[in-house]
Amino acid sequence: MKKTIALVAHDNRKKDLAEWADWNKKALEKHRIVCTGTTGKMIEKILNHKKDKDEKIKIKKLKSGPLGGDQQLGAMIAEGKIDIIIFFWDPMEPQPHDVDVKALLRISVLYNIPIANNRSTADFIISSELFNEKYSPQLKDYAKYLNRKIN
Ligand code: PGA
Repeated sequence: MKKTIALVAHDNRKKDLAEWADWNKKALEKHRIVCTGTTGKMIEKILNHKKDKDEKIKIKKLKSGPLGGDQQLGAMIAEGKIDIIIFFWDPMEPQPHDVDVKALLRISVLYNIPIANNRSTADFIISSELFNEKYSPQLKDYAKYLNRKIN
């Protein structure tokens, strides 16, 4: 079951994500990969290392995070286009796009998307039986909210 997996890392966490993606190359290759811009360039290199031209994997690269990439990803989540997010955000440094980061975390929780913010959680997700199976996250019923009266 092919899933769409988003990979994103802040600069201080890119090395962590690079190592994790390299280690899990085989598992990731079976799925569609979406990344924010700079993370995407890095992941593409890792997944295509030592591959011939005709077997190179294409991944979808959004804009760089601070230039709107996090928001593009958030929109994809709202449209039901993302199954899993591996998002290594930096817990030690403020980011120019902190509000976008917060929005991305919020929308992931709202749509009940599995999200890993560190390597151990990423390991648990990728080794789960559900990683290669069909899985539809249950959504809360927002009917009451949608049908609220506006005066
Ligand atoms: P980047 O963006 O992949 O372009 O570095 C990551 C982010 O800050 O969300």
